Amino acid sequence: MHEPHANGNLTNSEKHTEMAKPLPDHDFHNSWGCIYSGETTAKNKAVRDWWQEYFRSPATVERKYHDLLSKYTELFTDFFGGYYPISLHAHVSDALTPTTAASLILNTCASSPLVLKNPDLAPSALPTEDGKKIQEYVLEYLGWTESHVTHPKFAAVQGIYGAAFGPLAHASKEWEVQIIASGLQPTVISLGDSQDALSKSLAEAKRQGCIAVVIDMVSTENGAVLAPERFKMLKKCCAKEKLWLIVDEALTAIRCGAPFCFQRDEYGKERPDLVAFGKGLGVSGIAINFESPMTRGLGFVNTIDRHQTIMYWRALVSRPVTMPVLLDALGILYTARDEDWPKRSLAIGETICDIIQSQYPGEEVYGLGAIIVVDRETTMRMNIMASTRRRCQYSRWLPKLDAPYADREVMEAYVFGPLSKQHRARLSFLAETNGTRPAWCFICGIESTSNDWCRTCCLGRCENEVCEKSFKKHTCL
Ligand SMILES: [Zn+2]
Ligand SMILES: [Zn+2]
Repeated sequence: MHEPHANGNLTNSEKHTEMAKPLPDHDFHNSWGCIYSGETTAKNKAVRDWWQEYFRSPATVERKYHDLLSKYTELFTDFFGGYYPISLHAHVSDALTPTTAASLILNTCASSPLVLKNPDLAPSALPTEDGKKIQEYVLEYLGWTESHVTHPKFAAVQGIYGAAFGPLAHASKEWEVQIIASGLQPTVISLGDSQDALSKSLAEAKRQGCIAVVIDMVSTENGAVLAPERFKMLKKCCAKEKLWLIVDEALTAIRCGAPFCFQRDEYGKERPDLVAFGKGLGVSGIAINFESPMTRGLGFVNTIDRHQTIMYWRALVSRPVTMPVLLDALGILYTARDEDWPKRSLAIGETICDIIQSQYPGEEVYGLGAIIVVDRETTMRMNIMASTRRRCQYSRWLPKLDAPYADREVMEAYVFGPLSKQHRARLSFLAETNGTRPAWCFICGIESTSNDWCRTCCLGRCENEVCEKSFKKHTCL
């Protein structure tokens, strides 16, 4: 007779997945939130099969490239409520540049049903004249002049942290980022309470060459959450002034408790035109909605037209993403959907906030869902590896979204407080055995490089003098 077993109902592959589940740890840096899960991204059977086939015979899977990319597009669009991942990049900063956005917008207009089905714009015997006619028509639709094409700019909403490089880096508060900023300075818009004032400053921004407004929903600096009324006002004013609205969801997607943060109920139904999405999803890029204020008039009613414009855009590069990246991204999306990561993010956020409150009653916690922003002193006191910047008062906790992170008992045993000492000692031992070290500097958040790291707390540091000094002052568990 077969003995009943705790795992009796699991298939072999599920058993395998069970076994591979790592325990939670105090790394809430997670590569600036780029790592959503410490578990395998190949939980879905189809994804596992593609990987196995890829190892055996990459060429066979490569032949399915277009099918898999379509599958990814479809899955993404379903999960993210009608946003199509049109432009794919290695990093959000690569995607979020005014020239890339301007070309994408122009391509979307030029390949839209509005243009393609317009008898006045039908191909004639003079191809160069046709091009000019289409260009004029598109610029008219967008309300653009020559300068929007040659010197496109973004308008950034005050408080946006500023990308790592390129034009948006001008908006950074850190001089190390500012000195490497390049390209046209974004126009900085402040979101006050007056709709008239906002409309006015957006109209002026557009006159100055701005093509779009970029905003993030949760401040990367202090975790402040964008007020719903202000977001609704911004959407209205952007539509009125014909500026594209781009929401940077690199930090907030999924973690905020909804697929995209602006899809939370309080932010209203009107859709932003474009979304910048980031690395936690395995691939970065720009997603487009075809029923937003700036795209609605383009007539993308049929799925077939939408896919055609996406295909035209992606055909401009030889291969938008490589196969391993695509398989990884597919695996992440399937898991996010099947395990309902948005809902779990809320539970994880609650669990961690409860633990903070029980240890430090009344402590201010900012952020949303599994984006937890606390004073950096709190991070120091709780010996958490966080995504911190040297001169910033706050640090961000971006825990993984695996199930144990929502379990208070498990978190107290492995991550927080004196109970976690044993687990941390084990992690330190494993790191030493493998010739590695904790990944991040406990003080400034960059790569840890010093061999003088704390074996008790399992915390690392870089070799900067300021970091060394502060690190030596930390109180061990
Ligand atoms: Zn450091
Ligand atoms: Zn220590």
